[in-house]
Order: sequence, then C-alpha cells, then structure tokens
Amino acid sequence: MYIVHIASECAPVIKAGGLGDVVYGLSRELEIRGHCVEIILPMYDCMRYDQIWGLHEAYRDLWVPWYGSTIHCTVFCGWVHGRLCFFIQPHSGDNFFNRGHYYGALDDHMRFAFFSKAALEFLLVSNKRPDIIHCHDWQTGLVPVMLFEIYKWHGMWNQRVCYTIHNFKHQGIAGVDVLWATGLNNEPYYFSYDRLRDNFNDTAINFMKGGIVYSNFVNTVSPHHAWEARYSEVGCGLGHTLEIHHHKFGGILNGIDYNIWNPELDNYIPYHYSVDNFEEKAKNKKALRERLLLRDADKPLVCYIGRLDDQKGVHLVHHSIYYSLNRGAQFVLLGSPTESAIGSWFWHEKCHLNDNPDCHLELGFNEELAHLIYAGADIIVVPSNYEPCGLTQMIGLKYGTIPIVRGVGGLLNTVFDYDYDELHLPEERNGYVFFQPDNHALESALGRALELWYTSPKEFRQLAMQGMAYDYSWNHPGEKYLGVYEHIRHK
Ligand code: ADP
Repeated sequence: MYIVHIASECAPVIKAGGLGDVVYGLSRELEIRGHCVEIILPMYDCMRYDQIWGLHEAYRDLWVPWYGSTIHCTVFCGWVHGRLCFFIQPHSGDNFFNRGHYYGALDDHMRFAFFSKAALEFLLVSNKRPDIIHCHDWQTGLVPVMLFEIYKWHGMWNQRVCYTIHNFKHQGIAGVDVLWATGLNNEPYYFSYDRLRDNFNDTAINFMKGGIVYSNFVNTVSPHHAWEARYSEVGCGLGHTLEIHHHKFGGILNGIDYNIWNPELDNYIPYHYSVDNFEEKAKNKKALRERLLLRDADKPLVCYIGRLDDQKGVHLVHHSIYYSLNRGAQFVLLGSPTESAIGSWFWHEKCHLNDNPDCHLELGFNEELAHLIYAGADIIVVPSNYEPCGLTQMIGLKYGTIPIVRGVGGLLNTVFDYDYDELHLPEERNGYVFFQPDNHALESALGRALELWYTSPKEFRQLAMQGMAYDYSWNHPGEKYLGVYEHIRHK
C-alpha cells in the first residue's frame, strides 16, 4: 500500500510530545512491513534541521488556493532517520511556520488549515495518489473534509482517510472565516451540526469534528480512551459525534519504537542492559546521579518525565516529589511547562530544592537526558488526569523502571497492579495503579512501590524485569492499523 501521513509533528525533527513519536514509529513499522510511506509536515523555522538528511527542493512552485487567491509555497524533501518527509514552506506575509515555536499562536487554526490545504494541493499537483491518507489530531482534521468535498472532484476520488485523535482537549475551534479561506464556500452546508459546527459553541466550527464526520475510520490511541471519549467528559464535547459515528470508531494502542527506546541499544546511556544483565542498570543510576550532582546513597530513585500540564496531574507530580523525599527516596523531574503559571510554580520549587542532594528538577525539553533518566530511575510516576495512551509508562517498562500510574486511558491498558490486578497472573503484573486523583491515592500506590524497594529488593527487581518482558513495540499496533487500512481501502 501507498500511505501518506499528514501531521504537524514527526520525531525527532519536530517533536512537542507523543504525537511526533507515533508518526515516526508507525511509519517505520509500516515500511518494515513492505509498504511505501511518506510524511507531509510544515517547514517550521524551529525544527531540528540537523535531523534531516539530504534536504532538497522537491517542488518549487506550489500555488495553494487561499481566500480566493493563492499563496506561493516551496516543498522540500529529505530523510528523517530513513523516513521520506516533505516539508511545506509558504512564502507569505503570514509567516505561518516562522514563529519560533510549533503551537500556541493566536492564528493556529489558520496556520494548520493552510497546512492541510497545502498538503492536499501538493498531492494533487505532484500526482501522488496514496491508497491511504493518515491524518492526526485537530491540526489536520480539515484534510478529509477538503479531500471529499473539493479534491475528490479534481481526481482524488480513490483515496481513503484514517484519522487518529491523540488528544481530545485541543479540537481546533475557529470562526467560519476558515471555511472561506480554505475554499469550503457553501457556509450553510458546512456550518451545520452534522458537519463542522461545534456541538456547544454555536458560532464556531470544529476541525476535529470535521475529521470525525468525514474520515473513513477514526481512532484514538488506546481502547480504554476510546470508551472514555464516548462515555465520559474526556471526549470534551465530542461524545455525541462519536456515538453517531461509532461504527467507524475504535481504539488502537500506540507502540514505542524499540530502535530508539531500548536499553540494549540506546546511544544516550553509558551502560547497556537487558533482563540478562539487569545489574548494569545500577551503573546508569550512578551516572545519572553524577550528571545531576545527586548524592550516591542506597536510596530508591523516583522520576517524572513529561509535559507539565494540567492533563498530566501536575498537583500529584508536585506531591510525589515531597512524598518521595519524605520517604527517603530521591526524585528527578524532567518537565516542560506548557503554561507560564505552572512554569513559575515549578521554577519556585526548583529554587527551593536547589541545595537538596536528593532532588533535581530540570525544566525544559531534553531528549538526551530523558533517556538517561529512564535508564537510571527505579520508579516513574504518571499521575495523569487523563491520558489517551501515554508513552512514558511504556518506555519506563522497557527500561525496567516501574510505573506508578493513575488508572485512566491507555495507562489502564498497559500497567497492571502488582498487588490488586485481577485479570493478570502475578508474573504478568508490571507496576502500580491508583484511581482517585488525590494525594492519598497516589501515596497508596507510590508507597507500596517504595516499600517493596526497601523491604524486598529481589521482588522489586523481579517486578521490574516482568515489565521489561512486555512487548509494547509497534509490532501489534502496526498490524492493527494495516487491518484498518485494508478495511477502508475496499469500501
Ligand atoms: P504527551 O504526548 O501527552 O506529551 P506521551 O506520554 O504520549 O505524552 O509522550 C511523551 C513523549 O515526550 C515521551 O517520548 C517523553 O519521553 C517525551 N517528553 C515529554 N516531555 C519531555 C521533556 N521535557 N524532555 C524530553 N522528553 C520529553
């Protein structure tokens, strides 16, 4: 099959979070299975140009219809760790992708509506006719809308769309001017509740809703989150739309790329290890302590890696720092704040804990340090308010770092409580799960893990190795996506 991903991220060249990992990892898996995969991305000024090989101009004069006129674009092409990527660079005063950041501009809806239009225009004029167009999140929700309402009539009648929702929180709520900009000119038709009109804000359109209504298949990134999105508030107002389209909606768990996240191969860690020489992990713990100037003592090391965002349960992340320190453990945090208030709060904590030899808070995004922390820590906390899939618990498992998770979304599909899980045999359990979003519940799970470290080190080590035995690679999800592609292709 010929598959084209249209996305706003692809790791490691453009990565703000898990979306980038997924676009890269899934593409790689599909190629390994013999399919032809290409990825279309915006050409941001701030992306990691050092991660692209052979960047060259692929299509010089792409004229993209916009507000009844056109915007001139150039399409560049290069390889990102073996994946063929096309980067769209518009030449207009809007400077859509020259903002020094990927997201967070006031005109984000226009930036990504334009990107979606430009990606389709590029496919059309370069005569690319993929079997499957795979879109991701709100940024590309308008792709299936424009494909089936506009581009189909220009010759793209045989393409099918798989639309993956990685996070329901951001849906692309915008004014109807986007319809005019993108050439979806029949406002009464598009601005109706069965098409793009937002279910709650009756003056706005909703990109993600458009993606759900028009795509041939829609999925979110774990089975449990698919259920939550339909039946609870985490669908963020789209539950009803999902209910209407439930026959084409499901949950497919993400994988992680074991070529990148693998303690046996990882170039960012000083000592490689596996279940066969698990004792080497302790050397990484020592290296991590040296790097972060933590004291070398006989203590468990707890970590958090991720965005510092309301979604991630920041109050519980904060509580886990002090709870761990009070229980005699060490704590390392690597977090990128998404709001200034959360950023200032953690900066304050960082200053407060600056001289503590058992704690290090690193604020910012640091891929390399993340690898060393996964390898050096004993325990990773993931106390999310909601979590569509979550990658950090799966990476933790692969590195023998026991996850403590809140039982939501994909966390519930991947972590099985050592003491209480009823569906898995004791030798299949791999972490600790708590349910209520409060300090007490977090302590009950983290406390049990620390207790096991202190009192039964052999059992603790056994539990870590049970986690390492899980296969959360792209193997199974790759197969599932191919099943979906095959299914929609013949419809
Ligand atoms: P989300 O997509 O909601 O941000 P996920 O758990 O799905 O969360 O994916 C997070 C990914 O981003 C993981 O690969 C994690 O290692 C990485 N990551 C998150 N924050 C940071 C950071 N501050 N520095 C380095 N890597 C990070």
